[in-house]
Amino acid sequence: MSFDLECRNLTKRFGGTTAVDDVSFDVPSGSFFSILGPSGCGKTTIMRMIAGFLEPSSGDILIRGKSVLDVSPNKRPVNMVFQHLALFPMMNIAENIGYGLRRQGMAKAQIAVKVDEALDRIGLPGIGTRKIDELSGGQKQRVAIARCMVLEPDVLLLDEPLGALDLKLRERMKVELKALQAAFDTTFVYITHDQSEALVMSDTIAVMNEGRFEQMGSGRDLYYRPASAFVAGFVGDSNRWAGRVERAEGNVMQVRTESGLSMRASAHDRAMGVGDAAQIFVRPEAIRISTAADDLAHFDNHLSGRVTNLLFNGAASRIVVAADAEEIEVNLPQSGEFAALSEGDAVHIGWAGDQGNCFAAGSAP
Ligand code: ATP
Repeated sequence: MSFDLECRNLTKRFGGTTAVDDVSFDVPSGSFFSILGPSGCGKTTIMRMIAGFLEPSSGDILIRGKSVLDVSPNKRPVNMVFQHLALFPMMNIAENIGYGLRRQGMAKAQIAVKVDEALDRIGLPGIGTRKIDELSGGQKQRVAIARCMVLEPDVLLLDEPLGALDLKLRERMKVELKALQAAFDTTFVYITHDQSEALVMSDTIAVMNEGRFEQMGSGRDLYYRPASAFVAGFVGDSNRWAGRVERAEGNVMQVRTESGLSMRASAHDRAMGVGDAAQIFVRPEAIRISTAADDLAHFDNHLSGRVTNLLFNGAASRIVVAADAEEIEVNLPQSGEFAALSEGDAVHIGWAGDQGNCFAAGSAP
């Protein structure tokens, strides 16, 4: 496998703050790599070091196998798309896309060919003479990407480019951006604090927290096999409990929660033992619901309670069940039996022990 980008032991300190702390990762050629993390975790600092706007305190950055630390930003084979696209309103679309090529001194006729090719690739053929403000938000995004892609960068850096768009357009652009990346067959490095953007588009996601990578993997890995409490809490929704380990057998933990519930879960931290502080995460879709207690008696964890809230959201509707001093969010099944549920109804819930992820108590979002 060849790598377009390799970051080795990257560290950046600003005075007493370590914004990026010994981060290493490789991005395979032609892949979509995202860095996902909360505000202030160090995402932009990594991008700015790759682009050359910031010098690392230590570590190295290689593009196609060569260190670029001594290469000035305008000579690095990378381009960057920002949230504010910075298209030039006084230029038409073709002039915007061809801007970088003109600065490189390319001949007019050649620029015209490249611009037309790029307009085809972004699905907007023949609109080169139109003005920027005649375009929709999504079309502007595509033009901003085309403007970078005509320069044929080895790596395209995208810094929260969908942040300024409304929700509906953002949903559509997730699919479009992934398609554009495939059409240009270029390595994209994308930063976002929005897990759904990262999950939909990326081949690999690195979850970042306080300057470090907590876990790197596919969206499925992060969602189904979180390696830390932070990842379990940050990626997807979960019910979460704090408690102490009562019994430990291999990776099967029996935990007593702070409110007194005893529940079984799978440990991801083998060093955990009786008496240790623990956190348990259970996804709302992992919990079964029934109006008959017997249906769920075979689960390691089962509770009886009452519906306290119905969160209607079409197929993604949930209910909140209050049971033994806990409020638990459960996906509402689509079958008719549950359509009539209302607040105050008695219900039973249950889930298998291996559906609960148990971690030693630590930092969590
Ligand atoms: P956001 O999603 O809000 O943009 P981020 O994950 O991109 O956040 P960074 O902008 O990389 O985070 O910032 C990481 C940390 O480094 C923060 O604590 C920030 O205050 C600090 N930081 C960033 N740039 C500087 C700077 N030029 N001088 C001092 N501290 C800085």
